[in-house]
Amino acid sequence: MKRTGDLKLIQELNRSIILETIRKYGPISRSEIAKKNDLSPTTVTSAVTELINEGYVVEGGTGTSSGGRKPILLNFSPDNHYLIGVSISYSKITIADMNLEAEITMKRIYPTKGYTGTTLINYLLRLLEDFYAAQQDDGRQCIGISLIIQGIVDSKKGVVHYNPVLLLEDVYLRDSVEEHFNLPTWLDNDTNAYVLAEKNFGNFQDVENLIYITIGEGVGSGVIVNNTISRGESGGAGEFGHTSIDYQGELCSCGNKGCIENYISWPATSKRIMKEIETGKETILTTFLTNDKLFITPSEFVEAVNAGDSLAVAMNDDIAEYLSAGVVNLVHLFNPEVIILGGDVTNQNQLLINALQNKIKKKTLKPLYQDVNITTSSLGKEFEMVGAASVLLQDKFQFKLTHDRHGLKTNL
Ligand SMILES: [Zn+2]
Repeated sequence: MKRTGDLKLIQELNRSIILETIRKYGPISRSEIAKKNDLSPTTVTSAVTELINEGYVVEGGTGTSSGGRKPILLNFSPDNHYLIGVSISYSKITIADMNLEAEITMKRIYPTKGYTGTTLINYLLRLLEDFYAAQQDDGRQCIGISLIIQGIVDSKKGVVHYNPVLLLEDVYLRDSVEEHFNLPTWLDNDTNAYVLAEKNFGNFQDVENLIYITIGEGVGSGVIVNNTISRGESGGAGEFGHTSIDYQGELCSCGNKGCIENYISWPATSKRIMKEIETGKETILTTFLTNDKLFITPSEFVEAVNAGDSLAVAMNDDIAEYLSAGVVNLVHLFNPEVIILGGDVTNQNQLLINALQNKIKKKTLKPLYQDVNITTSSLGKEFEMVGAASVLLQDKFQFKLTHDRHGLKTNL
């Protein structure tokens, strides 16, 4: 039994390697694939036949002959299959149909309507049903569903252990979706998905020690140490938002005091901004307020920062100060080469990146500081969906894509 299992595993691994080679180097001949990967021509031929039959690969064109018949060339075919990526945040559920290059064919955004717990999960299943039904008629085959969500997520078991805002506790979300749709399903924490996407799909493929910090409705991090994502025992590693920057600070929902999330999450920052506005501070931020909209969005805030608005700039510096108190701990614990800041408040906010870089320089042991490069995401505005796709693609196919401003392209 074991030998059969091993053989099957080797065949699957070879298939992944062959498919990845065609994606990367196609158009390419069978003999070139064999040579590049040190595989026997028979192994390549039988795997390629399977891949053609399943629609992952197409034949097209001929190569130059080294004597006999001209070899037929092979190309990757990303559009015969699709995957469904799902991102669940506090305020919205985003569902997208993507091809095997993580390019979006269709995307829908739905408000969470304040739903929580079982009501939210049932709502999600209904939305997915409608979305999936709309995709089924066009002859393409769905290879699976990939879900990402905030909170403590055990990706191996497919469980959302803890999401206090959406009131999810030990929810076996992966199995629920898998059974409901009879499709292979993946589940991961959102920030882990982003750091995996940066590592496998983005500009940081050669970086071995990489940290992704996301600042949004909450604060979280994904940590890659020596090329491996650090997940912890139950998926809870990287809960950066609940590391304290003030032991006498505000009491947090987790029980600790002074958690960084309570200082730099967007709800915390926007609350401080509104307070300053109420005291009569002069700022262009008030131009974004109307009778119907009594809040500031992160991108409006960044616009005000870049326009040099004094209140916005001061608030931005506050964020950098709080953030540096937390990031300095990450630098000393993990000695990363790159720290990526994600979230709307960091987008186009070079002043924040610069301020953080300067503060870290002052607070960190020199050899550690010299290595660290603080930057923003390389995944573009669809980073959530690329993150969801990457969880599935890198696990199923071991795909490695590169991303540029024109979209995702094969890695040459
Ligand atoms: Zn906390």
